[in-house]
Amino acid sequence: MKRVLLVEDNAANRKLLGDHLRRAGHEVREVDTADKGIAVALAEPFDLVVMDIQLPGTDGLAATRILRASPVTRGIPILAVTAHAMRGDEKRILAAGCDAYVAKPIAYKEFLAAVSHLLATPAVGGTDR
Ligand code: MN
Repeated sequence: MKRVLLVEDNAANRKLLGDHLRRAGHEVREVDTADKGIAVALAEPFDLVVMDIQLPGTDGLAATRILRASPVTRGIPILAVTAHAMRGDEKRILAAGCDAYVAKPIAYKEFLAAVSHLLATPAVGGTDR
């Protein structure tokens, strides 16, 4: 079992993504803002962050940069989920420090494959230490 932090402001999406992660056997911590996500990621160990990019206030890209700047959270893989399926966005998302991204509407097989792939890579800040 891995610990996944899910940052998503939309309650329906958060429940769907959380349910899929839990069905895949993971423990999921859900938050609805980037600021809560950053605070929780600094306080508790996680193996993966699933980060919505469009968030009210601090957005997912800014939050990713903050997580990457801290030695506590620097090594945690970050999977972006984004409604931006526009050309150039992948570059922007990866440049901010996300390891991969899945575009909405989420194809769940693709989502869980990306989750498995990122969890297979040992995380510096993971819970298996
Ligand atoms: Mn959103």
